[in-house]
Amino acid sequence: MPVPHSPRRANSRGVVLVADDDPVMRLLMLEMLDGVGLDAIEAEDGEQAVRLARERSPDLILMDVDMPRMDGFAACRAIRDAANGATVPIVMVTGGDDLEAVTNAYEAGATDFVSKPINWPLLGHRVLYVLRASDAIVRLRIADAQNRAVLAAIPDTFFRMSREGIYLDYEPGRDGHGRSRRGLQAQAYPADDCVGKHVAELLPADIAERMLEQVELALRVQQVRSVEYELIRFGEAQHFEARLVATGSSEVLGLVRDISERKRAEEQIRRLAYCDSLTGIPNRQAFLEMLERELQRSKIGNKKFAVLFMDLDAFKRINDTLGHNVGDQLLQLVSERLRETIRPSDLLSRGDMPPRAPEETNLARLGGDEFTILIPDLERVEHALNVAHRVKDAMRRPFLIEGNEIFVTASIGISLFPEDGDDCTSLLKFADTAMYHAKNCGKNNAKLYSSSLTMQIMSHVKLEVGLRRALQNDELYLLYQPQLDVRSNEIVGVEALVRWRHAERGIVSPTEFIPLAEETGLIVPIGEWVLRTACDQARAWQKLSRRPVRMAVNLSAKQFKDENLSQIVMSALHDTGLDPRLLELELTEGTLMDDAKATLATLEQLRGIGVYLSIDDFGTGYSSMNYLKRFDVRALKIDRSFISGLPQDSENAAITRAIIAMAHGLKMVVVAEGVETGEQLVMLEKYGCDLVQGFYLGRPAPAEAVTGMLQKLWVPVGVR
Ligand code: C2E
Ligand code: MG
Ligand code: MG
Repeated sequence: MPVPHSPRRANSRGVVLVADDDPVMRLLMLEMLDGVGLDAIEAEDGEQAVRLARERSPDLILMDVDMPRMDGFAACRAIRDAANGATVPIVMVTGGDDLEAVTNAYEAGATDFVSKPINWPLLGHRVLYVLRASDAIVRLRIADAQNRAVLAAIPDTFFRMSREGIYLDYEPGRDGHGRSRRGLQAQAYPADDCVGKHVAELLPADIAERMLEQVELALRVQQVRSVEYELIRFGEAQHFEARLVATGSSEVLGLVRDISERKRAEEQIRRLAYCDSLTGIPNRQAFLEMLERELQRSKIGNKKFAVLFMDLDAFKRINDTLGHNVGDQLLQLVSERLRETIRPSDLLSRGDMPPRAPEETNLARLGGDEFTILIPDLERVEHALNVAHRVKDAMRRPFLIEGNEIFVTASIGISLFPEDGDDCTSLLKFADTAMYHAKNCGKNNAKLYSSSLTMQIMSHVKLEVGLRRALQNDELYLLYQPQLDVRSNEIVGVEALVRWRHAERGIVSPTEFIPLAEETGLIVPIGEWVLRTACDQARAWQKLSRRPVRMAVNLSAKQFKDENLSQIVMSALHDTGLDPRLLELELTEGTLMDDAKATLATLEQLRGIGVYLSIDDFGTGYSSMNYLKRFDVRALKIDRSFISGLPQDSENAAITRAIIAMAHGLKMVVVAEGVETGEQLVMLEKYGCDLVQGFYLGRPAPAEAVTGMLQKLWVPVGVR
């Protein structure tokens, strides 16, 4: 690249080399130059002109064509060939209308020419003009050279882009040696045939869109704008920053830099700032921020969450006796075990959040032996307690460190949003308080902050514990409620209803403990006990009574789903010797509707055994007559909510009547439940109801009381 002629320094007078063999001419030139404020040096011939041009680097040369030894053309060429002469303006002075001389002058590299006779005032202006123009050109050349040098030195890719997003120019980034990175594929833009293409053809749509927005903005506000984006290259994420600067009214210059390194460094810094260095899980700071985010999210989404605060019991003792090294290892193992213990499902169901990175967990170490767990989207408090108990149990398994089995226990405190507080500090503090409470209650414990909730849960838990013992302790017993045949006025059946005699709470109703038994799975053994006891009783009555008494036993949905059901029924019948036709199983509509295929199979087995089925609480569920036929049900029990309003409630009367008619159409027996008055009985009789059951006929009663009733005809309550 030619070294550009440096521009004249400010304030210094320009120096003009005057080359002419005619001394008079030189004198006139000197006068003229002095008049316009320029200094001059003189050369008498071409050779001298070339030498002076090289030695003195004048700002402009006025060169006569005809000179001895070396003419003006040759001198001009020689000067141009010299290192410092490439850009100096040379004005040739030609004679007359010598057109050929003009052509030659340009060919020799002259900048301009004047012809004799010379118009001196005009020449002064001409010289000044040429000098100024040459200065401007020189400055431009320098700026251009600098720009090129800069662009060659920086690794960025640069491009020019129109307002519409068309690449006008594109230069891929260079490496440290100025080599194009095209081959290395390190830059944001893959192809070098970008020119003329639209940005959306080269970049993913969302990035292109952002780029265009910023191009527009850069043009409007005339400020540097930047866009950061990520491209997946060769399976790896690369980050780029494009800086956009307006270079005109409708064009920007863009510099694209690979900032992957910076991003990686930032990520590492973030990780260091948010990670507990010992265990690699989030630290206190990270947890507080996580908590804050969850708080906002839960407030907006009207959701609950729990904060678990765990502290190892007697960690200090381990640290003191076995040394810090063992203590550290223990903390690492504890955090690992915690991570395994909190299942992803504990932290899931957050469709509004992007998937979490594997290292991201709701587990954190606050410091020392304190760990916290955030449980979002809490539906039931029990769920938080379950997690706490799982964690507690997990901690009880021994930790193997340096060949020693180390046993620890943990105390856990739980606070709940929104019940216990609605800011992070309180929630964390309350969880901590609850943890201390747990420690005070004998360690290896989990406690909720809110005591009313604790009580609530405790009573539930106590009831559950009690129910587990109820069977062994003989706390369950059966009552029997008679079913009367409306036409014959005889008791033809009884329904077995279970009761729980609780040591502290007295008699507990099945509506309270049956759902709990279902939830805990205790319904299966309890149900089996009910069935055996009822069959046993029915067998006793079968022997005693002159007419058969059918025993109705309630089955809950959970029992019905137990695949051993028919086995249990069969062995109960076998062991007691009861005639299967004297056993009726009461199911609800929901049970039948649940899972048609498996249901059918179970029903098939039960039918094979020869027991009867009836539908309990009819009218409160799906009330679909269709499937009843399919399932071969003997009887329908109209729910007592329909009967209780009779005879005044005309609507319920109509429904009751319709149910009876339909059931009879399907050849089913109809039982009315909850008959409490004589009027109801009269009305049901009128409607053609087959059997009735209710307080009017008899309350659920112990077996002995029913035995007495069986031996007589039934007499209405008032008459007795
Ligand atoms: P269910 O099968 O519909 O039983 C009838 C319920 O109505 C019984 O309540 C009974 O005492 C009550 N009842 C009977 N006549 C009248 C009346 O004239 N007026 C009023 N107001 N109520 C009357 P109970 O014994 O409290 O049983 C409640 C429910 O618990 C039963 O409803 C049944 O679904 C369930 N259950 C009871 N024993 C068992 C059992 O051994 N196993 C299962 N799985 N569920 C049972
Ligand atoms: Mg029932
Ligand atoms: Mg019922």
